[in-house]
Amino acid sequence: MLSAFRVNGSVLNNLSRSYSNVVPTTKLFIDGKFEESQTTKWIDLYDPATNKLVTKVPESTQAEMKLAVESAKNAYESWRHSTVLTRQQIMLKLQAVIRRDIKKLALNITLEQGKTLLDAEGDVMRGLQVVEHSCAAGSLLQGESLQNIAKDMDCVSYKLPLGVTAGICPFNFPAMIPLWMFPLALVTGNTSIIKPSERDPGATMMLMEMLNEVGCPPGVVNVIHGAHDSVNFICDHPDIKAISFVGSNTAGEYIYKRGSNNGKRVQSNMGAKNHAVVLPDADKEQTIDQLCGAAFGAAGQRCMAISVAILVGESEKWIPDIIARAQKLKVNAGHEPGTDVGPVITPAAKKRIIQLIDAGVKQGAKCVLDGRNIVVEKYPDGNFVGPTILTNVEKTHDCYTNEIFGPVLSIIAADTIEEAMEIINSNPYGNGTAIFTTSGRSARQFVNEIDVGQVGVNVPIPVPLPMFSFTGSRASFWGNLHFYVTAYGVLAYHDGATTKTYNMLDADQIRLIDGGPL
Ligand code: NAD
Repeated sequence: MLSAFRVNGSVLNNLSRSYSNVVPTTKLFIDGKFEESQTTKWIDLYDPATNKLVTKVPESTQAEMKLAVESAKNAYESWRHSTVLTRQQIMLKLQAVIRRDIKKLALNITLEQGKTLLDAEGDVMRGLQVVEHSCAAGSLLQGESLQNIAKDMDCVSYKLPLGVTAGICPFNFPAMIPLWMFPLALVTGNTSIIKPSERDPGATMMLMEMLNEVGCPPGVVNVIHGAHDSVNFICDHPDIKAISFVGSNTAGEYIYKRGSNNGKRVQSNMGAKNHAVVLPDADKEQTIDQLCGAAFGAAGQRCMAISVAILVGESEKWIPDIIARAQKLKVNAGHEPGTDVGPVITPAAKKRIIQLIDAGVKQGAKCVLDGRNIVVEKYPDGNFVGPTILTNVEKTHDCYTNEIFGPVLSIIAADTIEEAMEIINSNPYGNGTAIFTTSGRSARQFVNEIDVGQVGVNVPIPVPLPMFSFTGSRASFWGNLHFYVTAYGVLAYHDGATTKTYNMLDADQIRLIDGGPL
């Protein structure tokens, strides 16, 4: 069974927490073993609700990172030849173990990231769905074949692994994002290096313990830690063939360019500014409820959070009701029962959020619900920002042009659905959007004319399940292969493709697979 102690040294239960006197370190995971880093550079990780030190995260040394790649490269030689059934079995066991320990994972996520326990369980669940999906590798990995492409000639194509792949993760979904990455890499015969966010690596480390428990061979997945140096290492190392990145545009564009320049496949999921359009014919209560959940839930630190509401026509009159609903949300530490909005990740993030609200107000926006000076009595040192609503927001305001990534909803008024769509289509980001309406015609018009990757109709956070792709478009995504799979059921990313064309005289031999007739 897992022990949270081995991960971060803190004693946790739902209601209280105590911090170890000796600050524990986060370990590396190389060749199936948890190793203490020999680095001299450490990143302090604080509980966002208290700002007490939880763990020290190493900036892995060059030698340690090379060892991780060496381990992944060696493991690849045998792992690529493992049977699909062997890989599936590991995933089947892994999903059971994750399910068993979901609450332990959630406790760690809440401690390091700050989100509510319920949100933290959701974080794990969304990753778990990818693990479950990867259990279908036997179907997903099937190639294509066609008889008689020419006289006496058939053609077969296989999906083959690439080799060592790498994942670079953001802080906001400490379990889900690593689980977007290594399970599919693993089940398709690749090996993997994961670099979790230096701000909350604990869930990844717990997942590594689980991989050991279910018998995943050493070296198939390795974990290194750090910030820029480790990212540069991944972008440059010749034995790393592909990079999965999720995070901000600053990092993602840099990683895409540097990795691609080095000939790697890169998929880069980046920032967002997600708009919801509210038409006056929408179900008012339901819309306001969903809007507030999507804007302020997880303290606005979801890449699919709604950060802009465009109120069309008469729905502008709903602003007092939106404020009233947001005021009901309880801001507190994520492990406290009944909390709706936890702290943001760091004091620096809080400062940045407040600066963007200040700038909006200076530029002409009206702060009709102000969470800047919120006091959470039991946690006076936490990074709390209360739900904040800005009206009269213009497209030129800093609070609109920047991704705030906090519990802030900007409201824009529009006269028509066309005007609302024009605002969204001219925003650089294309991660997610939603419309609230009871008109089928308007919903169809929106779905067909909006230029955003993921679109919801009366669904505020339209995240697809893993049998589809998590998409995003324009400034929110660079690359040509999305996460998990494409809508066509083709394993999107961690596959190499090869085509073998056979021209044999003996028809039986055409069906030779693995050296023997079937
Ligand atoms: P971040 O870009 O700061 O960090 C992500 C990773 O990149 C980390 O592992 C970090 O060590 C590394 N990194 C950070 N700055 C870097 C730099 N300048 N150069 C090289 N590497 C760097 O992102 P974050 O703050 O951890 O996460 C929040 C961001 O992630 C938001 O923009 C959010 O929209 C985005 N996000 C997007 C998706 C999506 O699917 N589109 C999902 C989740 C989060």
